[in-house]
Amino acid sequence: KSGYVSVVGRPNVGKSTLLNAIIGEKISAISSKPQTTRQNITFIHTDCNSQIIFLDTPGIQRPKNKLGEFMLTESKESIEDADVITYIVDTSKRIGKAERSIIDILKEYEGKIPIVLLINKVDTIKKDELLEIISMYAKEEIFNEIIPISAIKNDGIDIYLETLKKYL
Ligand code: GDP
Ligand code: MG
Repeated sequence: KSGYVSVVGRPNVGKSTLLNAIIGEKISAISSKPQTTRQNITFIHTDCNSQIIFLDTPGIQRPKNKLGEFMLTESKESIEDADVITYIVDTSKRIGKAERSIIDILKEYEGKIPIVLLINKVDTIKKDELLEIISMYAKEEIFNEIIPISAIKNDGIDIYLETLKKYL
């Protein structure tokens, strides 16, 4: 199985840490060079039955100016080529402005491209808090999967990779 995964999330949610966690699993190639004008190939995960290309999509947010509008348009064009969208959030108990802005944009893809939500940093909270956060995001009704992970503890990464393969 092979395919493209577009990774979106505001800064500081743990995207780089997730990348390192996946590198810790198995990896064939890393590239930080821009491959197209629109998107960077962040890294490629390969194992015996799959090759998954992860694409960083930093321009997905409500635009504040002309440059932001340009980045959003470009990011949308590249998201449309993805087989799966991964949206990463952290364990904040409310959906803040930045997250709301991304969710509103992701709504346009609901039913067209599967969206996997990763709730990262679950090592910092208790189980009942996690359940509240999961139900808060579930109410948005746009996520095909909601997976709690701790990128720093390498927790849930294997489940995430297996889940992606379902959609490739
Ligand atoms: P990025 O901006 O989305 O790439 O986020 P980073 O990967 O740089 O992480 C931002 C901060 O969150 C860093 O201080 C990380 O150590 C921390 N962080 C990332 N993942 C986890 C996690 O699973 N648990 C905890 N407790 N901290 C994390
Ligand atoms: Mg980073």
